[in-house]
Amino acid sequence: MSDATHIETTTKRFSAMDYEGHWKADGSAGDLAPKWAKHRTEMAGEFPSAFRGTKDPFALQIAAFVEKLDKLRPEKDGPAYLGGSGALAYTYPEVKNVEISQAMGDLEAVLDDVVKLFHGAPNWASPLTMCNVNPQGNTAAIIASMLSQVFAANILEGEYAWNVHRAELETAGMIGNLFGWDPLSTGAIYTYGGGGCWTYGLKYGLTRVLPDSRRKGVRMDAKVICSQQAHFVQQNATDWMGLGMDNIVQIRTDAITNQMDLAHLEEVLKDLTSKGIPVATMVCTMGTTDASAFDPIRKVRDVLDRYPNPAGFGKAVLYADAVIGWSWIYFKDYDFDNNPLQFSERILPILKQNGAAMKELSYADAVGIDFHKAGWAPYVSSCFLYKDATEFESLHRRGSDAYLQAQTPYNPMYYTLEVSRTASGSLAGWATLKYFGKEGMQAILGGILETKIYLYDLLSEEPNMVCVNPDDSGLVTLFRVYPPGTDAAAQFAMELDEPGSRADLLKHNQLTERVGNKLFEWYRDGKKLEGRYTPHMSFSTGFRNANYNLDGADPEAVVYALKSFPMNVFVTPEIMRWALRCVQAALDEVLKA
Ligand SMILES: *Cc1c(COP(=O)(O)O)cnc(C)c1O
Repeated sequence: MSDATHIETTTKRFSAMDYEGHWKADGSAGDLAPKWAKHRTEMAGEFPSAFRGTKDPFALQIAAFVEKLDKLRPEKDGPAYLGGSGALAYTYPEVKNVEISQAMGDLEAVLDDVVKLFHGAPNWASPLTMCNVNPQGNTAAIIASMLSQVFAANILEGEYAWNVHRAELETAGMIGNLFGWDPLSTGAIYTYGGGGCWTYGLKYGLTRVLPDSRRKGVRMDAKVICSQQAHFVQQNATDWMGLGMDNIVQIRTDAITNQMDLAHLEEVLKDLTSKGIPVATMVCTMGTTDASAFDPIRKVRDVLDRYPNPAGFGKAVLYADAVIGWSWIYFKDYDFDNNPLQFSERILPILKQNGAAMKELSYADAVGIDFHKAGWAPYVSSCFLYKDATEFESLHRRGSDAYLQAQTPYNPMYYTLEVSRTASGSLAGWATLKYFGKEGMQAILGGILETKIYLYDLLSEEPNMVCVNPDDSGLVTLFRVYPPGTDAAAQFAMELDEPGSRADLLKHNQLTERVGNKLFEWYRDGKKLEGRYTPHMSFSTGFRNANYNLDGADPEAVVYALKSFPMNVFVTPEIMRWALRCVQAALDEVLKA
C-alpha cells in the first residue's frame, strides 16, 4: 500500500452508513460487505443461536456430533480404547511444530479433527478398563456439566450464575448433612481437583494460624502434618502456597493398618510445642490412594486439641483428604442388620468398617472430595467443604471489585482462589448426588467391592499368583505373579519378611514389571488372545516396603504388584476371569523371551 492511499483511508470521513450498509435485514453480511463481515456471518450461522427462528444450528450440530461420536465407538467386545487404533499418533516435541492457519477453518473439519484426537484414548466404559480410579462419568453429570459449557455459567458471583448457584449451595447442604455437620453452616467450593482441595486446606490453616500472612506473606516455618502415605500433592500445595516443602512433617504409618501412628504424632506435636512452632494444617488422609487406609481422625482431633498452637497463633485446621474415599460415608447409616441392598455376607463387614471410619469426618474442619473418582462424574468436579462457612469466608474475605456487583446473597469471588469458576463441576457433582441418591451410590460402590472380592477368590485358585493387599478395604486388588510351579503365597511371604530373600524380591519385582509392561503393550497394540481383546491394567513399582525395610532406608526393597481397579459398571465375573487368563499369558510370553 502506497503512502498516498494510506493517508487517504485514514483521513477519510466515516459515516454510520458505511457500517450499516454491510448488513442485510436479517443481520447477515450483504454481497458487497467486507470480508470480515462475511466471515462473521459464517460463524454466526454456526454459533448457538439467539434470535434466529426455530432451528438452532448448535442443537443440530450436537445431534450430528453425537453421530460422529459413534465413529469412536468400539465394536462389540472391542478393545479397551476408543476408535480404531491404540497407537500414539504424534512424536514429541515435533508435534509442537505447528502454526495457526491463515484461513478460517471449516467447522465440520475441525470437529472431525476433534474426534480424531480421541482415537486410542482409554475407554472408561469398557469392562476391560481396570487401570485406576477412573470411572466413566454418569449421564446426568455429563449432560449437566455440558449445559454449563453452553450457557457459560460462571459461579464466581451471583449475577452470572443466578439459580445455577444452587448446585454449589445444595452440594454444601447435602454433603454437610452426610458428614453430620450443620448444613446451613457448611460451605462448599468446587475447585480444580483433589490437589486444589488440599491447597485450600493448607491455605485455610495458614490464614487461620498466621493471619498476618495474608498481607505480609508466610514469614515463618509453620508446619503441615500428614502421614507417610499422604498423597504427593502435599508437595504441590506447600510449594505453590510458598510455605515450602521442607515444612511438611510426615507421621509414620502402622505396618498393618497403614494408618497414621498416633504415638508418633503425639511425639511430633510435643516437640513442636516445646519449640514454639505452630501447626498450620493437620491432614488426615481418609482413604489413601492405593491401600485405602483411613487415618483415625477422631483420635487425631483429640491429640491435636491437647497440643494447641503457642500463644499468638490461631488454632490449627484439621483437613481431611477424602478425595478418593469420601463416598464410603454412604455406608455410615446403612442398615446392616436388614441389608436392604442384599450385599453378600463377605463384604458387609468391610462396608461397615469403611462407613464407621468415614463417620468420623464430622471431626474435620474441612474435607476434600472428588466426584471424578469414586463419584462417577466427569472431570473436574472436586469439592472443598468446610464446616464453619462464616469463619472460612470471613477469614479469606477480600474487598469488592469495581466491575462486579453483588446482586445475590452468594458471591464466592470474595474468598476463592479462583476468579472465574465454571459451574461444570458443581453441576456434575450435584446431578450425581441427585441421580444416585443414597441407594444408587451404595449399590455402585458395594458392587465394585463384590467384584474385587470375587477377583480375590479367583486369585487364590491360581497357585502362582498371590494377592498382596488382602486386608485392604478399598477397591484395588494388588497381586504378584511368579513362574509356573512357584508357590506364590509362600514365596511372597519370604520376600516380604526375610532380608535373605531380598534378591528374590527384586528379581520378581522385575518380573512383575515386565508382565505389567507386556499387558500394556498388548492393550495398546489391540492384540487378541483366543480371539479376544486384553485388559487395560496397571502396576505399582512399590506400593509398600518389605517388612524389614519399613523406614524405606533401602529404596529397592519394595513390593511391586499388578493392579486391578475395576471401577466400571459393566464389569462381569467373566471379564475378571479373562483378565487373569491374560496375565498368565503375558507371564508365559515374558518368560519365553
Ligand atoms: C487423587 C488424589 C489426590 C489428587 O487429586 P486430583 O483430583 O487428582 O487432583 C489427592 N489425594 C488423594 C488421597 C488422592 O487419591
